Amino acid sequence: MASRKKLHFPPSDKIKLKVKKLGREKADARVFPDSLIIEVDPRLKGKRRLEVLIHELYHLGRFPRDNETLEKEEHEVTKVSEFLAENLWRFGVRCVIE
Ligand SMILES: [Zn+2]
Repeated sequence: MASRKKLHFPPSDKIKLKVKKLGREKADARVFPDSLIIEVDPRLKGKRRLEVLIHELYHLGRFPRDNETLEKEEHEVTKVSEFLAENLWRFGVRCVIE
């Protein structure tokens, strides 16, 4: 069985969020683990925006890593972020980017 790195999150005050149109990148959001920048498309709204932010933040828990590791963990990150967003949304949590 492949060994897995433990989650290790960077300090929150080092993470930057940028709202940027990402149509050309064919993505709703993306994360740059080295610079700790998350970019999110301004057209994302509601529960999907909440889910995407959770998703990209979760990715930051396992850096540095290579593309192969990223692909392996994509399934887990997607499942967890969908679950958390679904239930946070049910509980009335909303996502406003200031
Ligand atoms: Zn991902």
